[in-house]
Amino acid sequence: MARVTRAGISTIWALAAWVLVSAPGAAVVDSSRFDTVVIDAGHGGGDSGALGLRGTQEKTLVLQIAQGMAERLREGGLQVVLTRRDDVFVPLERRFAIANDAGGDLFVSIHANASTDASAHGPEVYFYAAEATDESAKRVAKRENRALRGESPSEDATADPVLAILGDLKRTAFSEESVRFARIAEIELSRLRDVPSRGVKQAPFVVLNGLMPAVLVEVGFLSHPSDEQWMRSRSGQRQVVSALVKAVLAYGRAFEKKWQAQ
Ligand SMILES: [Zn+2]
Repeated sequence: MARVTRAGISTIWALAAWVLVSAPGAAVVDSSRFDTVVIDAGHGGGDSGALGLRGTQEKTLVLQIAQGMAERLREGGLQVVLTRRDDVFVPLERRFAIANDAGGDLFVSIHANASTDASAHGPEVYFYAAEATDESAKRVAKRENRALRGESPSEDATADPVLAILGDLKRTAFSEESVRFARIAEIELSRLRDVPSRGVKQAPFVVLNGLMPAVLVEVGFLSHPSDEQWMRSRSGQRQVVSALVKAVLAYGRAFEKKWQAQ
C-alpha cells in the first residue's frame, strides 16, 4: 500500500465517517428503525446457478424462496426490496447498487449449493470476509462470484489506498452485524431437519460487499438427493421461508433494542 501522511490519515477518517453515515446514493432513512430488508435471489436468466440431480435449477428455487420471504415480511410491516422479481440476469454489482439505493437495513442473498462431494448436504450461512474459512468456502465464493460483470469492486478499491482503507472500515462496521444475523439464521435453519448444519462461514462474496449487514444463505445442496427433494417440495420451501423470516424479525427486534439503548 502507498505511504499515507498523518494529515492524510485524518482526512481518511473524516471521509470514512461521512461514508458510514451518508451512504452515497442511499435513500434518506431513519437509521434507528429496522424497516427495509433487501432479498437477493441468486442467479437468473442465462445464469441458472447450480443444477440438481432431478433437474432443479437454483435460479428458480431461490426466486420462489425470495418471493415467499418478501410476502411474509411485508405482512409483518417491513419494506422489502427484491434485487430480481423475474427470471432475469442481474450482475452482482447491480444487486448491491439496488440494495444501497434502497437504504436497506439487511441484505439476504439466497442460494442453493452444489458440490463434487456427493455426500455434502445441509445449510451454510456466509458473511463477507477477504479470507475464506476453508477450501470449500473458497470454492463456493468462486462459483457464486461468476455472475460478476466488469471489474471486481474490491480490485478497484485496492488500486487506491484511500478507497482501500474506506472499504475496510465499511466492512468492519457491518461485519459484526452480519455475523449476528448469520448466527440467528443458521440456528433457525438447523432446526428444520434432522441434518447437521454446516455452520456460519466467511468468504469473499462480491454480492455481500455493500453498505449494510449482509449474509448469503446456501439453503442446501442440489447435488445431494434428499436435500434436493426437500428443497423442491412445497413444504420444504415453506419451512425455509418461515425460518428465514423468523430470523429477520428476531434480528430486527434486536437491532431496534440496541438503538433504543444508545
Ligand atoms: Zn448460487
